[in-house]
Amino acid sequence: MTYIPDKTASGIYIHIPFCRRKCGYCSFVSYEDDSRIGEYVSSLIREIRGRQVDNRSVDTVFFGGGTPSLLTSSQYYTLLNTIYDHFSVSDKCEITTEANPGTVDKVGLKDLHSMGFNRLSLGIQSLDDDDLRYLGRIHDREEALLAIKDARSAGFDNINIDLIYGLPERRPGVWPKVLDEVGKLEITHLSMYALTLEEDTPLARSITLGKHAPLSDDKAADDYDAVDRAGLPFEQYEISNWALPGLECRHNLKYWHRHDYHGFGVAAHSCVGRERFANTDDLKGYIDDPLDSVDFREELDDEKMMGETIMLALRTSEGVRFDDISRIFNVKFEDRFGHEISDLMRDGLVERSSAGIRLTKRARLLGNQVFMRFI
Ligand code: SF4
Repeated sequence: MTYIPDKTASGIYIHIPFCRRKCGYCSFVSYEDDSRIGEYVSSLIREIRGRQVDNRSVDTVFFGGGTPSLLTSSQYYTLLNTIYDHFSVSDKCEITTEANPGTVDKVGLKDLHSMGFNRLSLGIQSLDDDDLRYLGRIHDREEALLAIKDARSAGFDNINIDLIYGLPERRPGVWPKVLDEVGKLEITHLSMYALTLEEDTPLARSITLGKHAPLSDDKAADDYDAVDRAGLPFEQYEISNWALPGLECRHNLKYWHRHDYHGFGVAAHSCVGRERFANTDDLKGYIDDPLDSVDFREELDDEKMMGETIMLALRTSEGVRFDDISRIFNVKFEDRFGHEISDLMRDGLVERSSAGIRLTKRARLLGNQVFMRFI
């Protein structure tokens, strides 16, 4: 059965903006100079302790990056303890860390599991060495497979892997083989993201210079569709996410259901009630004064909040439920968006579910065309 999130408890996100080496395609906020991790952790602790929060109940914690697995066990432990001191963390809390297979070992993974992490998200991206070199990853296929094996022997039974699809130079036959292998890994969750061209990245520059083939939407769509044919044991529950039933990522569900979450660290976003805010992406500024690091804040009116709620819900396989919208915003969805629904159904982009509307299979990669009709 699909997990039903508890909206009375919040999620916590901790951003660790350091990576051993930038991958060629990456534009995330992360710094290669990890000499400041110690100071950064101290600032995170100050920020967590200093955050004024009305409801301290928490049932998901997520360490993301960057590469959180560059933290030492003792840094992880201190941060986790600070969270437990400052918030009321439920016994059944999902506690995840992302990890790069090139930065983990069995001892470190055992430490993480014994201090309470119960979900591991490994940035595998591919199981083909040519793909991994193309992407500029710091690990190879063997290290990726070893990380999964070590995680399991360290006690993790809830493991996600991230994959990247739409690589224009991937050799024919490689992608189905990767998916076939993924199906045998005994993991619980798969996140899959399209390769995108981000400005000012080495990959974008080399494609512009003609050293690499340009990205192709058709290639990306073929790879995406191949997941349905791969016979994986998962069910798709969001545009980019598949899981064994009941093992959907509870933290990410908070984003899509627009429940509260508190983000800490450089560039971390928070959403509390009507308010959204985000920290600076300036590492030095954050380290110097983590309690004065918010550089974006917005209070949403009903209209904006409804648009955002609909857009996020449409990302999920369940889609948007008419009852939810009328309960939260006192708006009859079918009256308010009758034209939009008819147009999108005519174009084959949405379909009716039992209680509302959801994206059609064809529209899963065309989500923006649908979302813009509601915001
Ligand atoms: S490990 Fe992740 S965050 Fe770090 S550079 Fe690579 S893609 Fe970016």
